[in-house]
Amino acid sequence: MSKIRTTELCCPACGHLWQAILFDSVNATRLLHVTDQILDGTFERERCPECEEALQPEHDLLYSDLARGLWVVMRPPATREALERIEETVPSVFGATCDSAPPIVRAHLTDVIPRLVFGQRELRECLTVERLGVPAALVECAKLRMFRELLPELATLGPTHLLSEGVVHDGADARFVAIRAAVGGPAGVVHLPMTALGELAEKESEYRARYPALFERPYVSMRRYMCYVACPVPPFWAARCAGHGNTPESVHPSGVRNSSHASSV
Ligand SMILES: [Zn+2]
Repeated sequence: MSKIRTTELCCPACGHLWQAILFDSVNATRLLHVTDQILDGTFERERCPECEEALQPEHDLLYSDLARGLWVVMRPPATREALERIEETVPSVFGATCDSAPPIVRAHLTDVIPRLVFGQRELRECLTVERLGVPAALVECAKLRMFRELLPELATLGPTHLLSEGVVHDGADARFVAIRAAVGGPAGVVHLPMTALGELAEKESEYRARYPALFERPYVSMRRYMCYVACPVPPFWAARCAGHGNTPESVHPSGVRNSSHASSV
């Protein structure tokens, strides 16, 4: 079952308030079109009725697609600072789901590894990577390796991390976008041959020893091993990035004011 809720949104550009329907939980088995929307980035896209500012509200969501072994807790990006505390709660939430599930569903849950993501963008990435057919932890290891190898180029962009956007070139390459930590906007694109991901898989034990949290914890992200807090954005970059936060193509990531009226679909 999926649950929806009427939520009051606040336009980040003009402050206008309006009501929108957002999901509390998505059962992908019953709502196939929702998964398509998440994958193509149109999920819960809103536009301010007053000034037409684009918005993709950030909120709590539980996404499950048991046929694909996916059970994902989404929390707003603003809560990522509390990663340790939030991550500790994921197994118990998953356990409660298992306990309350009908026997036929519980059988599927035994194959599921609970995941945690922060924000709509990471949820989209989680589903995208699952379709690559490569373990998510290895994709994150590939990002960390690329990050090291491309450090001279990426360093000129200020603090960034890489986000997977699926495959291109008839499936030959995996595509990654460099995201600026300061404003969340795209800064560049990196392609990695899928064969390189295969080579990584052959060294899984080596990477598992180097980055154990990626293989053992619900939050499977290279950002666990980044140190933005210790490396604040230099003033030059803060100024330069500021101009890119509100381009017509950008979608403001937040805007949820409060919510009520939960119901099921
Ligand atoms: Zn507005």
